[in-house]
Amino acid sequence: MNEYDSNRIADIAKENNFERTEDYSKIDCYILNTCHIREKASEKVYHDIGRLKKNYKNKKKPFVLITGCVAQAENDEMLRREPYIDAVVGPQSYHDIPKILSNLESKSKRKKFNLTEFDVIKKFDTLNKIVNPNSNISSFITIQEGCDKFCNFCVVPYTRGAEYSRSMKEIIEEAKNIISNGAREIILLGQNVNAYNFSNDNKKIRLSDLISELEKLKNLKRIRYTTSHPRDMTQDLINCHKKSKKLMPFLHLPIQSGSNKILENMNRKHSREEYLSIIDSLIKAKPNMKFSSDFIVGYPGESDKDFNETITLIKKVKFINSFSFIYNSRPGTPASNQKQIDEKTQKRRLILLQNILRDIQIQENSSKVGKFVNVLIENKMKNHSRYFGRSDNFTPVILSDVYEKDIGKVVTTKIQKYNRNTLFGIKEKKEREEAA
Ligand code: SAM
Ligand code: SF4
Repeated sequence: MNEYDSNRIADIAKENNFERTEDYSKIDCYILNTCHIREKASEKVYHDIGRLKKNYKNKKKPFVLITGCVAQAENDEMLRREPYIDAVVGPQSYHDIPKILSNLESKSKRKKFNLTEFDVIKKFDTLNKIVNPNSNISSFITIQEGCDKFCNFCVVPYTRGAEYSRSMKEIIEEAKNIISNGAREIILLGQNVNAYNFSNDNKKIRLSDLISELEKLKNLKRIRYTTSHPRDMTQDLINCHKKSKKLMPFLHLPIQSGSNKILENMNRKHSREEYLSIIDSLIKAKPNMKFSSDFIVGYPGESDKDFNETITLIKKVKFINSFSFIYNSRPGTPASNQKQIDEKTQKRRLILLQNILRDIQIQENSSKVGKFVNVLIENKMKNHSRYFGRSDNFTPVILSDVYEKDIGKVVTTKIQKYNRNTLFGIKEKKEREEAA
């Protein structure tokens, strides 16, 4: 989501004639978009600014804006600690960036800005007026933001605010626009994307309705959505996986822990059994469906037995690609008041869990050798004659015998080699255009 936000911030700043640059020697305005999910992010901000100060020692000071969830959480404290910062802008106040820039440009004595209101409606009203110029083959669209779930370990409800869904009309407009720029896959984004819920003339529009509408768009070949919460995996959405030809057979569905005791301590509001039953229903709906998840290891109160329950769940579902983190105590969250587990145990468990995830991933990739997979070709790799794409299951695939003209096409590839993360294929002669 931060990648999507950063692109949209760059679009907004164009209003003030600012253009993105990779050339650090030419910066007039430095915008650092931040994530607050785990600690150290704010320290990284100060390190980055230290580097910037050195670069600009004998030059005109650039405007310095800190955006995102660190800005939201630490706002005034940041402005006090680092006078080099001109503005802190929370994730729901990006629409005010042109105003801040105009002000900074016009004033000889610079004022400091703290914009950390939760004004998400105004933000999307502004963003809708600015055309999204994205031209990536696989492009993101934010459809939902915020979270009402309040897991006991997580800062998101405090930094992103309450759940908010954009209107279907806005989303379809944005989709048409990026498809006309070349996008062939759309990844719908939200902190709890499957909580998407927009009311139009008293009619409730859910994620499954939105996917059905997107499905009708010509030239769009693939649809994905992330990140989902198990509680919002409703039957209509599960059915959508059966009906939709463009919805890909892969789902990132975080569970965090396989132990019911820990799930309850986390306030996840679902059990291990409920999670497994969702997985079963999805496989029934789409037999080639594969899954990934998020795991938190070493949560307060996690015993060896609890940890083993996470391991047995991983082995049962056979997640093909996942994220795992050591629990990180976040100030202000309920879990931060609980007795913490010692670091050595946390690290030992993380390594064990990651080794098991790795073995499953390798097994999955090796099983593909000699088989045909469909790959959406996304781009030519830098300094290579090879091309990058992804399989239906979202696994990266590298191909050597496709051409510039194949970018944006779905081709069928016979897998020759693999490593942990990637498959390597050769294109079959009878190139196949899927879902044209
Ligand atoms: N809304 C999604 C859900 O409920 O599954 C997850 C969104 S969260 C931004 C992304 C991931 O960060 C979580 O699934 C969790 O594994 C991890 N995370 C969040 N807070 C954490 C913490 N305090 N310590 C370690 N990992 C954390
Ligand atoms: Fe954080 Fe996800 Fe829980 Fe919301 S549902 S509090 S975003 S982990």
